[in-house]
Amino acid sequence: MVFDGDFHLHTKVSDGHSSVAELVACARARGLKQIAITDHSFSSLICHQTLEKFEAQRAEIDAESGLRVYQGIEANIVDEAGSLDVPDEIVRRAEVLTVGFHRFVALMFKPCSRKFLLVNGFMSERARRKLYDYNTEIFLRTLERYPADIVAHIGHRCPVDFVRIAEECAKRDVFVEFNEKHILSTAGFAENFDDILATGVKFIVGSDAHRTDRVGKFDNVRKFLSERNVPLDRVYGVDGNLPSFKDKSEWKNEL
Ligand SMILES: [Zn+2]
Ligand SMILES: [Zn+2]
Repeated sequence: MVFDGDFHLHTKVSDGHSSVAELVACARARGLKQIAITDHSFSSLICHQTLEKFEAQRAEIDAESGLRVYQGIEANIVDEAGSLDVPDEIVRRAEVLTVGFHRFVALMFKPCSRKFLLVNGFMSERARRKLYDYNTEIFLRTLERYPADIVAHIGHRCPVDFVRIAEECAKRDVFVEFNEKHILSTAGFAENFDDILATGVKFIVGSDAHRTDRVGKFDNVRKFLSERNVPLDRVYGVDGNLPSFKDKSEWKNEL
């Protein structure tokens, strides 16, 4: 199994420690053919993407050569309508739109749901389990409203019905991520994996590296895959199986 893509990377624009050029040099040295830069998005606390930074990052990516670098964003789902904390213009311009749950989101961001963010983010496992159906509906709404490419670390901190979301992803051509940092620790992911697989959904690998030493490193994903019968033609970023992502340029926010 050769990992030749990494579709989840952070730079100094958010909470990563490296520049685009450093990540690219590292990816090239490790033999990767494609990467996606997916910095944390607009409402993330402290370090996050902005319109100005997105513009500057675009120029940095355009200056690179030798491997395909996608400019993406790791967008936060922030309210009951499934809204993302990304200006519509950036949804249209992001080459990879990754969506997911994060708890360190500014609560002054509009729209945003305190129940969704605070209970999932900071309350007990028991309290979070009670939001299972509520969370699932929110994720489904996001997938309905936005031209998402990837659902990141599904189930991490935010309990959801993996299978319903995977079904929706399969229908809408959205990748479910194998996230190196969370794949072995997300409650229920392994247990539900046969049913997730049965939906026909495609998978994609992401290291979630915040430093160059983690770029393209997939020890946990390798372990997960080697213990299961996953058809590798369903896993993107492995053995020359490289993805394509949606053209979002015509997308309109209907809400
Ligand atoms: Zn994340
Ligand atoms: Zn991330």
